[in-house]
Amino acid sequence: MARQARRPHQCYAEGLDERHLRQLTLVRDLQGAAQNGELTLVYQPQLEMRSGHLVSVEALMRWRHPELGFIPPDEFIILAERSGLIQGMTAWMLETVCAQLAAWEAEGMPLAVAVNLSAQDINDPGLPGRIADCLARQGLSSAHLRLEITESAIMQDPEHASEQLTRLRETGLRIAVDDFGTGYSSLAQLKRLPVQELKIDKSFILRLAESPDDEIIVRSTIELAHNLGLEVVAEGVETPASRVLLEALGCDLLQGYLFSRPLPPDELLTWARTRRSC
Ligand code: C2E
Ligand code: CA
Ligand code: CA
Ligand code: CA
Repeated sequence: MARQARRPHQCYAEGLDERHLRQLTLVRDLQGAAQNGELTLVYQPQLEMRSGHLVSVEALMRWRHPELGFIPPDEFIILAERSGLIQGMTAWMLETVCAQLAAWEAEGMPLAVAVNLSAQDINDPGLPGRIADCLARQGLSSAHLRLEITESAIMQDPEHASEQLTRLRETGLRIAVDDFGTGYSSLAQLKRLPVQELKIDKSFILRLAESPDDEIIVRSTIELAHNLGLEVVAEGVETPASRVLLEALGCDLLQGYLFSRPLPPDELLTWARTRRSC
C-alpha cells in the first residue's frame, strides 16, 4: 500500500499486463481511425454455385494502425463492440459501401454487397432509417445491400433481434444468419426469424472433404435451410474437394480462398473482368 501511495503511476503500469495495455491503446486509437483514413474495406466474392457467376461480395473491415501495423478484425471488432465504438464504425462502413456500389455500377459491374452488423447495430432503432438514407443518397435500391448478423448476436436476445430484423426486412434488405452452427439456435427460433439466408460457419467447411462429421452437419443444415425456404452460403471454401462436395449437396452460394481472398475495390474489378473473359 505504502509503495502504491508513493509511486501510483509506476504501480498502475506494473499492474497492467501487456495485453491489457495493447487493448487500451487500440481502443484509444480506434476512435479516430476512420477519420484518419486508417480503416479500409476489402471485398470477397460470393459465387452462385449453379452458374459460377459473381453475384455479391462481402465487405470486410481492415485497420492499419500507424505504429502497430495491421490489426486483425477479430481483435479490433470485439474491442469496438465493448467500447461502444462499433456504431460509428458501422456508419462509416455503410457510407463507404454505398459509395463503392455506385462506383461499381458506373463501371458496368452491378453487384450486391453483404455487410456485417454487430448486436449493438441491430439494437440501434435508427439503423433502418440510416441505411435507407445511405442507399437513397447514392441512388441505389435495397437490392444492393445484404446484412449478415451472427447467430450468437441474434441469440443474445432473440425476441428483440427478431423485432429489429423485421424492421430491417421491411426496408427490402436481405438478411443472412452468419456463422451458423456455432450459436446453438433451435429450429423453432430460426423459423420465426425474418431471414432469407443461412451462412454455414467456415469451421464446418474448411475440412469438409476429410471429415465425415462435418459432412453430416453441412448436409443436414442445407436440407433444413432449403425446407425452410432459405438459401445457403458456405464460407471458407479452400479446396476443390470441398467445392465439389458443396455442389453435390446443393449449396447455393460459395465463398472462400479457392476463388479469391478479400480484395481492395480496384483488384476486385480486375478479378471480375479477368474471370468474365475466361
Ligand atoms: P466473418 O463475418 O465470419 O467473415 C469471414 C471471415 O473468414 C473473414 O475474416 C474472411 O477473410 C475469412 N475467410 C474467407 N474465406 C476464407 C477461407 O477460404 N479460409 C479461411 N481460413 N478464412 C476465410 P476476416 O476478414 O479476418 O474477418 C473476421 C471477422 O471480423 C468477420 O468474420 C466478422 O465477424 C468481423 N468483421 C469484419 N469486418 C466487419 C465489419 O465491417 N463489421 C463487423 N461488425 N464485423 C466485421
Ligand atoms: Ca460475415
Ligand atoms: Ca461467417
Ligand atoms: Ca466469423
